Amino acid sequence: MKIYLDYAATTPVDKRVSEAMSPFLSEKFGNAGSLHAYGQEASAALDLSREKLAGLIGAEFREIVFTGSATEANNLAIRGAVKKARSKHAVTRPEIIVVGTEHESVLETARDLAREGEARVSIVSVNEEGLVDPREVAELLNENTVLVSVAYANNEVGSIQPIKEIGAAIREFKGAGRVYPLFHTDAVQAFQYLPCVPSELNADLMTISSHKIYGPKGVGMLYVKSKSAGIDPVITGGGQEFGLRSGTENILCIVGFASAAGIAVEVRDEEGERVRKLRDDFYGQIKASIPEVKLNGPAFGDKRLPNNLNIHFQGRESDELLTSCSINGLAVSSGSACQSRSPSPSHVLVSMYGDKKRAAESLRITLGRGTSKEEVDRAVETIIKIIRNRKINAFN
Ligand code: PLP
Repeated sequence: MKIYLDYAATTPVDKRVSEAMSPFLSEKFGNAGSLHAYGQEASAALDLSREKLAGLIGAEFREIVFTGSATEANNLAIRGAVKKARSKHAVTRPEIIVVGTEHESVLETARDLAREGEARVSIVSVNEEGLVDPREVAELLNENTVLVSVAYANNEVGSIQPIKEIGAAIREFKGAGRVYPLFHTDAVQAFQYLPCVPSELNADLMTISSHKIYGPKGVGMLYVKSKSAGIDPVITGGGQEFGLRSGTENILCIVGFASAAGIAVEVRDEEGERVRKLRDDFYGQIKASIPEVKLNGPAFGDKRLPNNLNIHFQGRESDELLTSCSINGLAVSSGSACQSRSPSPSHVLVSMYGDKKRAAESLRITLGRGTSKEEVDRAVETIIKIIRNRKINAFN
């Protein structure tokens, strides 16, 4: 029997979500840009989905921009800000500030802009809990800063950043009447467990992904504060999504995304508490049997996502552990899904501990709606066996 413990990588589509989507697979196939009845049907579904998502994050209808993924939304926020600052606001030497533990879709985009000479990039460090000091961000702000990007919660160790405080420091620096710096937060991992209201977080831009919250893959969104008006499109064409993301809208997946987001908000507190208890129990059992293990990331409490566990198994290579787990039916990971095929150790753990060995001996275990106490007990038993017996028989 297989046990899935990689919910930070992706989640299965909720049955209620697939039911909401199903009419749009073939029957309601119109293009939201067409004027006839088929188009109007699609356009109405698009409007309803946008309205729903806007309501869930306390935003306005026109502030929701659908994209093809969170990766694309992060690109739009970062590249879009640099592009507009250069072209319309005469910022000749734009600078962006990102955190060293960001998802690759932020880090690689920033690196790319630096390589192309489009922007200077400053990297903010984190402490051993993976947390940013808002004062460090404030010290880096200057008149050329066009954007600061900080993920609300980290995808590998679940650290919850002081977003409100960082946003407030940026607002204070900016003062009244200035467009830049914009504050962007990647709320992909946070959305399921934390209220994500950009106005309360002092954020101008916010990214969410559908497939991390039991919606379909291939759709995301960027909240764009209407008054900020500080980004240009990256994908140009027919002018869909208020001119910020051209391309025929993926109504099927947008409907699914909105449905999944509604459910996520509805069950947020209850499900957070449920997985928190299971996660604490999981680690408690492992620690009791293998006292040498160490928890990577913040202690359990309000600075860590309730479904995240990241454990250092001293002296055991992550690759070897991953293979043994996989052979024994456990789906866990050694870092972010996009990077797990790359041989280098997690940049998140290296940023936190400055220790490549620790980073190469750690496993990420993330729980979700399908996780039960029985699964936790079986997974713990399997991991303990793997650690105690290097040559565990896969089929016993
Ligand atoms: N940001 C974070 C924090 C993530 O965890 C992920 C996915 O792993 C992404 C962005 C990218 O999301 P998507 O798969 O929708 O491009």
